[in-house]
Amino acid sequence: MTDRYDLVVIGSGPAGQKAAIQGAKAGCRVAIVERGAAVGGECVQRGTIPSKTLRETAVALASFRQRSGNVLDLQMPEGTKISSLLTRLDEVVQSHQRYIGDQLRRNGIDLIHGRARFVSPVEVEVQSVQGARRRLAAGTIVIAVGSTPRVPPNVPIDHEHVLDSDSILSLQYLPRSLTVIGAGVIASEYASIFATLGVQVTMVDKAPRPLGFLDPELTDRFVAEFERSGARYVANAAIASVAADGISVVTTLESGEVLTSDKLLCALGRVASVDGLNLTAAGLAANTRGLIEVDAHLRTVVPHIYAVGDVIGPPALATSAMEQGRRAVCHAMGLPAGLSGETMPVGVYTIPEMACVGLDEAAARERHGEILVGRAAFREIARGHISNARDGFLKMVAAADGSRVLGVQIIGEGATELVHLGQLAMIGAQPVEVFIENIFNFPTLAEAYRVAALDLLSRRADAGLRLRHAAAPVEERDGARVP
Ligand SMILES: Cc1cc2nc3c(=O)[nH]c(=O)nc-3n(C[C@H](O)[C@H](O)[C@H](O)COP(=O)(O)OP(=O)(O)OC[C@H]3O[C@@H](n4cnc5c(N)ncnc54)[C@H](O)[C@@H]3O)c2cc1C
Repeated sequence: MTDRYDLVVIGSGPAGQKAAIQGAKAGCRVAIVERGAAVGGECVQRGTIPSKTLRETAVALASFRQRSGNVLDLQMPEGTKISSLLTRLDEVVQSHQRYIGDQLRRNGIDLIHGRARFVSPVEVEVQSVQGARRRLAAGTIVIAVGSTPRVPPNVPIDHEHVLDSDSILSLQYLPRSLTVIGAGVIASEYASIFATLGVQVTMVDKAPRPLGFLDPELTDRFVAEFERSGARYVANAAIASVAADGISVVTTLESGEVLTSDKLLCALGRVASVDGLNLTAAGLAANTRGLIEVDAHLRTVVPHIYAVGDVIGPPALATSAMEQGRRAVCHAMGLPAGLSGETMPVGVYTIPEMACVGLDEAAARERHGEILVGRAAFREIARGHISNARDGFLKMVAAADGSRVLGVQIIGEGATELVHLGQLAMIGAQPVEVFIENIFNFPTLAEAYRVAALDLLSRRADAGLRLRHAAAPVEERDGARVP
């Protein structure tokens, strides 16, 4: 027997949840299929929430050290259990799962446990853990199956000595040393978290700097802070081999350098979880990178099948996954989805954290030619002094006449929250003056916007003076006639 729905969503991670809820709000009969024991996806079970819970402990430790003026030399005792650093993890995960489950129920969405696979472009078969099968048919199907860590052929991941981002938090004890291979978001976040916890961390990657998609001013500051904490970033380095002997992990680089550590974290990207979906029955195929391709409306080549979240590739964040889920269903149901694209913020929870929205300096110059850039160092504002967040800064990029904010990049405490002020200015097409003419609480880090705006507008004034100066008659320009 086949159950008929308006919308079937495969996967209950951030992308699937928002797709299902948007469908229910639009009045559809919706089913969401989840193969895992609980809802929430990678985000809740092994990704965003668990990693941020460990980060919270590391940040508290760093902040305590800093606020004591580094008088207190706090170290983790040898044999510290990872579980003791994941304070409240179970509580946070369970309450989040409960909240998602309640939200799905409240919206009348059928939650079906089992593994989904296509049997035709309009039908999905769900097999439960007991082996029972049922079929679901729908006019719209959303694939939101997420991703799993990539296992490179030369890295023997055993989840005991050589770990991936799914197994790193199942470590029993805090290691004394850790090699991290990769320099993307997950690698950089875990590298800086463990370094802050006092682990000797070496991060290795082929790239000259980590997080290549961010403004180099931010990543240079990040590397400086990372290395100041005693860690090391090995740039432009390829891995020749990784071997674990039961006591330590030996990583040999192609340069011949050998790194020995207690544990190794492999964070070299993720692969879409399309295996077992039987995409061909739906008339679909993964591309050469293993991802499902979509158009600007998140539609696959089969117009009533959408794909959202990690399964379509970068930016592969919970933030973008949720928005894609919502937008896909709005499109399918013919509803307006609002603005998109340039105002999507990015938050990276390294220590210190980094965030950006819109264009960075290089991209803005490429697209608009003449632009203005203003900076504010957190050490210039009172709150920066109080919270000892002196190394952070905010960079604002605007149109040459200051009439529009084109982008904001921030590193330092609160960056992931602060970025939303810049985002709203961009959405509202506000001029840079908005940050000067409005009042900020004192003392706040948000004042950095005012300082950056003043800096930026002073550059506009300088440029204006220079232009007027250049246009003025020669005798006025230099006070004397030049022969
Ligand atoms: C360590 C780590 C830290 C992260 N930190 C952040 C962060 O700070 N901020 C941020 O925005 N993002 C972060 N992310 C990324 C974020 O977790 C992912 O981008 C997000 O979870 C993707 O959502 P999704 O819905 O596409 O997929 P997922 O969350 O992976 O969910 C997919 C779901 O589909 C289910 N599924 C798969 N196949 C089937 C099938 N055939 N049938 C039924 N169900 C199926 C899976 O069981 C899973 O529950 C982090 C990721 C990791 C690993």
